[in-house]
Amino acid sequence: MAKYNDAKCRLCRREGTKLLLKGDRCFTDKCAFDRRPYAPGQHGRARKKLSDYAVQLREKQKVRRVYGVLEKQFHGYFVHADMAKGVTGANLLAFLERRLDNVVYRLGFAMSRAEARQMVSHGHFTVNGRKVNIPSYQVKPGMVITLKESSRGLEKIKANVEANSSRPAPKWLEYDANNMIAKVVAVPARDDIDLPIEERLIVELYSK
Ligand code: SF4
Repeated sequence: MAKYNDAKCRLCRREGTKLLLKGDRCFTDKCAFDRRPYAPGQHGRARKKLSDYAVQLREKQKVRRVYGVLEKQFHGYFVHADMAKGVTGANLLAFLERRLDNVVYRLGFAMSRAEARQMVSHGHFTVNGRKVNIPSYQVKPGMVITLKESSRGLEKIKANVEANSSRPAPKWLEYDANNMIAKVVAVPARDDIDLPIEERLIVELYSK
């Protein structure tokens, strides 16, 4: 399974925003973006006027990095979003939100999407009663996601659940926290996705 192995904080500094890639560290004074809010490298502090293309490219890279998706797969989501009914940009974000690793993160089992991805890969979750260890698995309305009974005692998961207990689940997921069961009740709408993303820029980029 391919993944990005370079320092994650450099990605936030490159994109000029906090992408929250390192879980709880992102909310401490160790956050590299808070300490050095400029691009990495020798010319990171230089002010540059970006071309339209560069602005679109940066937006695409930002979203790709938030969800931890490589270019080929991201483009695949765009192709499907473009073919689906509705607004392409909103469809694209809905595909990304419906990834199983994102669902696990949204439900508070993990402190970051990268951690959620690892938990899914290790087989801690079931969908409709069957183990699913594919982070990109697309959940659909009606599906039920559960933390496996045998994984409920894991200290890391218990600590994450405790730390995220005040973070509400998104509206498109009906979550029973006592039994650690979530049901997908809708396809995520644009308003359900609380990320500062201008998805129209990504559509423009791929439509060239
Ligand atoms: Fe980004 Fe988190 Fe690193 Fe801060 S600590 S730069 S938000 S990944």
